[in-house]
Amino acid sequence: MEYEVVIGLEVHAELATKTKIFCGCSTQFGGEPNTHCCPVCTGMPGALPVLNEKVVEYAIKAGLAMNCDIEQNSKQDRKNYFYPDLPKAYQISQYDLPLCKNGHLEIDVDGQKKNIGITRIHIEEDAGKLNHDEFGGGALVDLNRACVPLIEIVSEPDMRSSAEAKAYVEKIKAILEYLEVSDCKMQEGSLRADVNLSIRPKGETKFGTRTETKNLNSFKAITRAIEFEIKRQIEAVENGEEIIQETRRWDDDRGIGYAMRGKEDAHDYRYFPDPDLALIKLSAEYINNIRENLPELPDSRKQKYINELGLPEYDANIITGSKMLADFFDEATKYCDNAKSISNWIMGDLLRILTEKELEQVPFKPEYLAKLVVMIDSGKISSAIAKKVFEDMFETGENPEDIVTKKGLVQISDEGAIKEIVLKVLENNPQSIIDFKAGKDKALGFLVGQAMKESRGKANPQMLNKMFLEELNK
Ligand code: ADP
Ligand code: MG
Ligand code: ZN
Repeated sequence: MEYEVVIGLEVHAELATKTKIFCGCSTQFGGEPNTHCCPVCTGMPGALPVLNEKVVEYAIKAGLAMNCDIEQNSKQDRKNYFYPDLPKAYQISQYDLPLCKNGHLEIDVDGQKKNIGITRIHIEEDAGKLNHDEFGGGALVDLNRACVPLIEIVSEPDMRSSAEAKAYVEKIKAILEYLEVSDCKMQEGSLRADVNLSIRPKGETKFGTRTETKNLNSFKAITRAIEFEIKRQIEAVENGEEIIQETRRWDDDRGIGYAMRGKEDAHDYRYFPDPDLALIKLSAEYINNIRENLPELPDSRKQKYINELGLPEYDANIITGSKMLADFFDEATKYCDNAKSISNWIMGDLLRILTEKELEQVPFKPEYLAKLVVMIDSGKISSAIAKKVFEDMFETGENPEDIVTKKGLVQISDEGAIKEIVLKVLENNPQSIIDFKAGKDKALGFLVGQAMKESRGKANPQMLNKMFLEELNK
């Protein structure tokens, strides 16, 4: 039996407002526990919430960038549930009148483009955090995060693989970064996703029962949790078991998912309009003003890279997928016209080291990458040396020109010096000369390699090639 996977995501993003959604406390991540708090965000009886207007503005920006209709009339509701990190025993969210509806995003998986529907985007407050108590047996509550503003972006069940889900979250992350409405730091929980997943026999049109795996906060976790859940559901169905609608957790260290509780339905939350908060009424003018002032978004930047700089779509996709990389690229190409080479360095060595070290910022200036490319293009250093200089830049953040001078890495392009190396290598490798004359072209490559070694990577390889051929054909 062949199965089709059906995935819908609920993505939560913390908004980068300075203050919380209903009070003036700081939204800053971390801090001594319970120091960014007041009677409102700690849920004291009688304390009154006042909506932070920036939250509405940021949510509308996100909605517009994700092609949503913005509702001129929306409302905030209480979602009732008890949990120790939720002092009011309800979360202020939006139920039937969310701020944004009916949007969509285009994703690209291996060149295949696809639209993913967005059902709604609403605003709500985050909960606090429970920390393990090292000294006692209980848990400690930290309410610094309580009342930090969130948007929840709910997708249609339009995704059919973990790759599509990953591409979708990547797209959301890029858009929110470009809009500067969220810092999207997944490791700090600023961006996290709940995965709703079901399977059905290929060809079936009705959806199967879904499970919801909550709070995935890295792309790796999203991918692995989905793969795990697909396998689990298929195995269960093949064993004749029924899939239970439930809420699940993912343990990324152990690589396993497990059931947490039966999934509640909307009616379990006893939603009702929050009587302390007025309806949100927006003029068309207010919304239009935000629309007209939206910054450039990843898709338009991508088209610019393709059309104006001649980058392949593949490169443009990766670079514009992160605002940090795209800004870095823009800055570097101010100092050097070789956009493709800058892109190659970013996609190759730069991304490799960044992910290895889990860095969020490149430790050297974009201008320095441009300088490195200029030195390669002008023949001052070889590409092999450039790789080493690049690693050095990463460690020290220094100007590559200084690194090259200090370490004496300038490429040897002097005819006399090259000839000296070539003659020495030929003298030491008589067998290669015989091989070459017998028609074994590989021998040339070997000799060039020896010469590179001899010059510690500094000899100009084109010149070596040419000079070896001249000598061998004498
Ligand atoms: P809740 O808020 O209770 O989790 P929603 O109806 O808002 O429920 O749905 C949440 C998410 O679940 C949406 O992203 C939706 O696309 C997805 N979803 C709904 N039904 C299915 C299904 N059968 N299989 C996979 N995903 C689903
Ligand atoms: Mg849900
Ligand atoms: Zn507060």
